[in-house]
Order: sequence, then structure tokens, then C-alpha cells
Amino acid sequence: MFQGLSEKLQETFKRLKGKGKLKEEDVNEAMREVRVALLEADVNFKVVKDFVAKVKERCIGQEVLESLSPAQQVIKIVHEEMIELMGGASGKILIASKPPTVILLLGLQGAGKTTHAAKLANMLKKQGKHPLLVACDIYRPAAIKQLQVLGEQIKVPVFSMGHEDPTKIAQASIVHANQNGQDVVIIDTAGRLHINEELMTELREIKSAVKPHEILLVVDAMTGQDAVNVAQSFHSELGLDGVILTKLDGDTRGGGALSIKAVTGCTIKFVGIGEKMDAIEAFHPDRMASRILGMGDVLTLIEKAQESFDQKKAKEMEEKLRKHEFTLDDFLDQMQQMKKMGPLSSILEMIPGVGKQLKDVQIDEKDTARVEAIIRSMTKEERRKPVIIKDSRKKRIAKGSGTSVQDVGRLIKQFEQMQKMMKQFSNPGAMGMFGGGKK
Ligand code: GDP
Repeated sequence: MFQGLSEKLQETFKRLKGKGKLKEEDVNEAMREVRVALLEADVNFKVVKDFVAKVKERCIGQEVLESLSPAQQVIKIVHEEMIELMGGASGKILIASKPPTVILLLGLQGAGKTTHAAKLANMLKKQGKHPLLVACDIYRPAAIKQLQVLGEQIKVPVFSMGHEDPTKIAQASIVHANQNGQDVVIIDTAGRLHINEELMTELREIKSAVKPHEILLVVDAMTGQDAVNVAQSFHSELGLDGVILTKLDGDTRGGGALSIKAVTGCTIKFVGIGEKMDAIEAFHPDRMASRILGMGDVLTLIEKAQESFDQKKAKEMEEKLRKHEFTLDDFLDQMQQMKKMGPLSSILEMIPGVGKQLKDVQIDEKDTARVEAIIRSMTKEERRKPVIIKDSRKKRIAKGSGTSVQDVGRLIKQFEQMQKMMKQFSNPGAMGMFGGGKK
């Protein structure tokens, strides 16, 4: 996400770093570049103007120009102002003191409302809640069915009354939740292609009938300033409690993320980063700013790892690595756990410094599927001792996994190299490879 903006800003800062001491005109030049980068990223022009003015004012101050690492100071200021720009509370749902907590999801068609209703339900379920999904989108063909399919997938009940009046459905769903012990009700409302009075009237009616605790607007990040305008209109008509910014995984520019709060005053609570049910994250302005500036997002990475990795297994794995007992089976196991963390590309993006280098590397998720198929076609013994895999075994494995003998050979070779590397890592005598050994 945000590759375009991120690269431009990083280039500017790299030039700045190369200069050593900074003069006022260096700051001016850099700010001109920041301004262009933000405008190209489709950030609202007034937001850009204010942002650049603020950053410039702070940068031209004495402590920056006279500091020993002025470029670092400039980056720090941009970082802080970016956090301020996107600022506000991070992603949490306010849970009502008396259940059920009612969440109303609004948005235009195609923004990702139905998908995010289910993602939210999935997230809350993992937090120990008992959500109920409510199908109030009675106009879009197949919207009800889509919610039912997603509900089944994440094992969350879906309340539907077919094409009945949406306000009635919403009201009935709360009675149903009360009777069935469901403590969070997530209402998926109908969208339209454009904002119109009919839509607003319908939403106002639902709102006054169910008195939601949270009204969240779902907007598509890739629509840039349109997303901001949509948020503005919905907020003035209905009063929003927050925004879910979707499809950030495909957003190279970031204009929506950077402008919504500043223009509308609404905080972004969650972001959608993929089509799968776990591709939702709480929005943290500080972490987002770090990602944009290429500083990585180690905190989110750690949280994801903690959520996905089985701690007991992690300990076992560590033990195996130490004793050089790591087998292809363990490798497969690790791959499964990694998968739970989400798409590989979005994981790598969070590691400081990696984001940019990966720009040209296409990570094909099919590759991991191929590796998985190959390992699954091996016998237990082969997985433990890949050295025994000679030509005829390779042929059998290739056939069983629908791959080629070369693919099998390559995987075994990679695995052997990895084992060798692990031995070096776990052998303190081999630290020379980090340059700390004898010269
Ligand atoms: P609705 O009309 O607002 O209910 O939109 P849907 O929930 O049906 O989503 C429209 C399309 O966007 C679907 O194909 C979703 O899979 C896709 N989508 C939703 N959220 C995301 C996201 O965060 N990332 C990506 N890449 N696709 C998404």
C-alpha cells in the first residue's frame, strides 16, 4: 500500500540526508517535493497546503537547521505531523453497557460493506463476543446470499427476512439477538451507486429505529478524494462515529487515508487490506505514518505474529532449530502459521526497509501452494531425511504434487541451504559471517 507516495517521500529525504547541514532553501526545496508528492497521492489540496506550511514552519526553526542530523529532524517532524493529520483514537468498537451493541454499516455499493460486516463479526468473535449479522441490503442482487455465505464461513449467524422493509428487519434483529444471547448486532445496509435522498431517508429511518451505538461508514480507499467527499456527505447527514477504509492493499496513493480525518473530522477506525476474512486491521495513525515513510510497522507485525502463532509450537520449533532437528514437516508447519498472518506481501511491507526493495519482486502466493503440495506428496521418512530423495522418488513426488522434477529438486536444495544457514546461526563460533569475527 501507498508505494507511490512512499517512494517519492523517501527519495526526497534521501537527497536531504546527502546534504549534511541544511540551509533554509534546502528545506524549501524538500517541502516543494513533499507538496507535489502529496498532491499526486490525491491528498486534498487544502490539507496539503496546511500540512506543508506547518512542517515548514517547524523545520526552519533553529533547532533543525543547526542540529547535527538535520535531515533526520525533518523526517521526524513530517512523521509527527502526519500522525497529527490522521490522528484520533485507534480502532475499537465501543461496547454498550447493556447488550446488544448495535453497529450500523453504511456506504456506497461496492465499497466493501458486506465483506467488512463479516470481517468485523469475525474479529469480534475472536475477541469473545457473540455477533449477529443482519442482512438489510434488500436491493443489491445476491447481497443477502453473500452475507449468508460469509456468515457460514466464519460461523456467525445471519439474520434475514428476505426483501421486507429494512427498518423492520433491523428492529426484528435486535429482538432476535436479545432472545438468542447475541451481544453485538452488525447491520449491513443497502448502498447505492451515488448518494441520493432515498438512501439517506432509509438510513435515517433505520438509525432512529435501532439507535446504533456505532455508525461506521465503509469507503473504498482507491477512490481517493471521492472517498473523502462521500465521508463528508454521510457525516453531515447521519453523524458518523468512524470510518472503515477498505482496499488499502490496492491503494498506492494514500490520499483518502491522509485526508479523511482532516477534512471531515471523522476518525478512521479500521482498514481493509484484502478480500479474506482476517484482512482487517485497527487503524493506528502512528504506524501508518511509519509505513508511508518507509520506517516499517514492527508493532503490527508483532501483534499479528502473537495472534497467529501458537506459543507452545513456537517453543518446540526453537528447540528443534537448536538441535538441528528441523524437518520439512516443520517447514510446512511454519508455512501454515505464516499464512494465518495474511498475504506474504503485506507482512513483508511491515518490516523496516523491506517495503521498497520488494517493489519489483512479485510474490506469487501460488509458489507457496506449490511448495506445500510437494511436501505433502512426500513420505514421512522423506520429510525427515530429504537426502534419500533420489531420481525415482523425485519423479513420484512431482507426479503426486502436479509439479516438475525440477521443482522438487529446487525445494530440496533450498531446504538444505536453509538447514546449513541455521547451523551457522546457532553456532556461536560462526558469528564471523556478520563481520564481527577476526579480520
Ligand atoms: P458492498 O457492495 O459495499 O457490500 O461491497 P462488497 O462487500 O460486496 O465488496 C465489493 C468487492 O470488493 C468484493 O469483490 C470484495 O471482495 C472486495 N473487497 C472488499 N474489501 C476489500 C479489501 O479490503 N481489499 C480488497 N482487495 N478487496 C476488497
